Amino acid sequence: MLHRQYDSFIACDADYRDADIVLFGAPFDSTTSNRPGARFGPRAIRQESFGLETYSPRLDRDLTDCSVFDAGDVELPFGDSEATLALIREQTATILGDGKRPFLLGGEHSLTLGAVQAALDQYPDLYLIHFDAHTDLREEYLGVELSHASVIRRCWDLMGDGRIAQFGIRSGERAEFLWAKKHTKLRPFDFAGLEEVVASLKKADKPIYFTLDLDVLDPGFFPGTGTPEAGGASFRELMKAVDLVMAANVVACDVMELAPGLDTSGVSTATACKVVREMLLLLGAKD
Ligand code: MN
Ligand code: MN
Repeated sequence: MLHRQYDSFIACDADYRDADIVLFGAPFDSTTSNRPGARFGPRAIRQESFGLETYSPRLDRDLTDCSVFDAGDVELPFGDSEATLALIREQTATILGDGKRPFLLGGEHSLTLGAVQAALDQYPDLYLIHFDAHTDLREEYLGVELSHASVIRRCWDLMGDGRIAQFGIRSGERAEFLWAKKHTKLRPFDFAGLEEVVASLKKADKPIYFTLDLDVLDPGFFPGTGTPEAGGASFRELMKAVDLVMAANVVACDVMELAPGLDTSGVSTATACKVVREMLLLLGAKD
């Protein structure tokens, strides 16, 4: 008997109705400030995912035991950030409204704002955990208020003080670091303090949006991204931190900023796939 060929992330072939998690891609990089290419991220991740096993020896879990629906990529109007964010927000809202957890694949980091808006509508007491090399706290960049360099600042506009924690940060303007002292919990360079943040969120049973800019990884592990920044985390360090976050009440998450064409070895794409698999397994294990 012949089977249909699925153009999905490996083993993410559940029916929408049965799925606990819904994966969707956002192929957009129109506000990328340095090297573009993140629009090709979701497609590359799906394609390369077939180079992975569905089983994770690290977690002793298998993707075939999870119920994940891969909705493919949202069709986005390139060059139009506002319309794009509205579409991401709508898609995220639909998934949350159906009682499922959205998992966004970027694409550039600005897209996170649309998903966070939808998550806030559903969970007004949402908390944001942000892994990145960059602060992403600019008020504006070259006159543009909405770009991947200011996405977390735009989230703060909606959320206010005391609801955003940032880890792994090692690049930004002095003004952004000063601003962060008053308004977010910013941990430079590594993930120290994450355990306490997560413990207090668990205790209060707070819903969490987890946004992962893959450039938090050291460019030695992950060169395939638009704004690589030396001095980052190893894959194992990142996984340890991801395990901590995912043990709390993560209601939605994203993995952003893979630009596959910028690493012709394919290692960055393979790494992104593994990050996504481990996060799916951690998210899917809760039910
Ligand atoms: Mn970012
Ligand atoms: Mn970044």
